[in-house]
Amino acid sequence: MGIEAALPAEGILTTQLQKVINWSRRSSVWPMPFATACCGIELMATASSRYDLARFGAEVMRFSPRQADLMIVAGRVSVKMLPVLQRIYQQMTEPKWVLSMGACASTGGVFDTYATVQGIDQFIPVDVYVPGCPPRPETLIEGIMAIQRIIDNDGIPPTGPDGLRRPLNITVEPTHTVGSQPTSLTVGQS
Ligand code: SF4
Repeated sequence: MGIEAALPAEGILTTQLQKVINWSRRSSVWPMPFATACCGIELMATASSRYDLARFGAEVMRFSPRQADLMIVAGRVSVKMLPVLQRIYQQMTEPKWVLSMGACASTGGVFDTYATVQGIDQFIPVDVYVPGCPPRPETLIEGIMAIQRIIDNDGIPPTGPDGLRRPLNITVEPTHTVGSQPTSLTVGQS
């Protein structure tokens, strides 16, 4: 059912321009997938038919940073790759948002080595952290919805008194319940 079913065909709606702008922006978030490892596969699953990210208007992955407003970092980032991450972030146009997907992007995960960045938030402002290794698609969707709620309420990303971008540092809680294993399953027995 569209809005035309609830209103007469010649009807007129009055609202605030800022609300329309926010509604448009949150309904057309275009992600820039910076997928470097296994979390990227879960990101692909989120966009596919079962989870259908298109329901939230956020399935249009853009591989040109100038056409994207949500960077999703999915996977570990090596020190050698870090300048590329920063360059792509800088090339994205404002207003832009950053979502850190998975343990590796947020903390380095199990890769506690000198070659792996121990958290991208040391180098770019992260708005939403999505926990997991990998996060399930439901959790990633929850993270994207958190961004949408911010856009709905506040419009543009906040800046601090120094004029620099202020990261929002929101952490998503997993929303799914884990299903039990099949009870008839036996391992190593015929
Ligand atoms: S958090 Fe886990 S699933 Fe995601 S990139 Fe790291 S090791 Fe892979």
